[in-house]
Amino acid sequence: MRRRIIAGLMMAATCLAAGGADAQTFPSKQVTIVVPFTAGGPTDTLARILAERMSRTLGQTVIVENTTGAAGTIGVARVVRAAPDGYTIGIGHWSTHVVNPAIYPLNFNILDDLEPLSFIATNPQLLVTRKEFPATDLKELIAYAKANPDKVTAGTAGVGAASHIGGLYFEEKAGAKVRFIPYRGGGPALQDLVAGQIDIMFDQAANSIPQIQAGKIKVFAVTAKQRLKTLPDVPTVDEAGLPGLYIAVWHGLWAPKGTPKDVQAKLTAAIIEALADPQVREKFIGLGQEIPDAAQQTPQALRAHHEAEIKLWWPLIKAANIKIE
Ligand code: ASP
Repeated sequence: MRRRIIAGLMMAATCLAAGGADAQTFPSKQVTIVVPFTAGGPTDTLARILAERMSRTLGQTVIVENTTGAAGTIGVARVVRAAPDGYTIGIGHWSTHVVNPAIYPLNFNILDDLEPLSFIATNPQLLVTRKEFPATDLKELIAYAKANPDKVTAGTAGVGAASHIGGLYFEEKAGAKVRFIPYRGGGPALQDLVAGQIDIMFDQAANSIPQIQAGKIKVFAVTAKQRLKTLPDVPTVDEAGLPGLYIAVWHGLWAPKGTPKDVQAKLTAAIIEALADPQVREKFIGLGQEIPDAAQQTPQALRAHHEAEIKLWWPLIKAANIKIE
């Protein structure tokens, strides 16, 4: 009897160490990717492309859940607090995982309370304007913004969102003041830009490219050292008149802390398999995304990049003294 109890306890301990029975059978039900912004925005678009391809590898539906608010902090917190069983994971990017922790009073640690899964893509921003905006290039836009302080409306995905930080750098480098209009994601902000309700946006390439190609908005510059392959005629910020305004919005996926290692490995493998799929690659590249090399797609590479970005940006973001009200 005693022996049987001990054997039972040992088995339970082995199961626990392996993360419970789930580790062997994972996934046995649908997996949710939490997108911390609205549907139809850049982060959502990437998540949906991945989810569809991951479903095939994992043999279970992978759904996208949009948990929005506070520039993505609410969605990220939802992942931190989710059960660490692999069924809830999150996608995030430069501003949700680097900028926000520097300006929001979060009650978790962005590095230690999440398990990195994969570094999936990076894209610069595009400075876009509504079609009828009275400027034909970046220099004219700067002149207009300077002559009309606080008049140019700039759509953002919330205080501290990538689109907001782009706008703040614009203000600093151009010596102009704009009026920020916050939304719950780049999706609705871009809709309002297309409808002519707001003037400009520092938007992730992935979001704006289809609207630029459809001739619905104007584009003045790309926030990178190199032009985008998908939009070869669009000048860089250096060429257009705001030298050095580089912003690369990179995306990654994370699981809650404590997710069993082999469950993490299955999720990472499914993401990496999706990133190797020519159809996924074509879609990402068409959206102005650069896909990291295979060696950079690993959890270790995501963690290293995340740490390096925190080191680089926190002093700059803290010095900018961004107010969240
Ligand atoms: N990533 C946001 C979104 O998907 C936009 C942003 O951060 O500017 O809506």
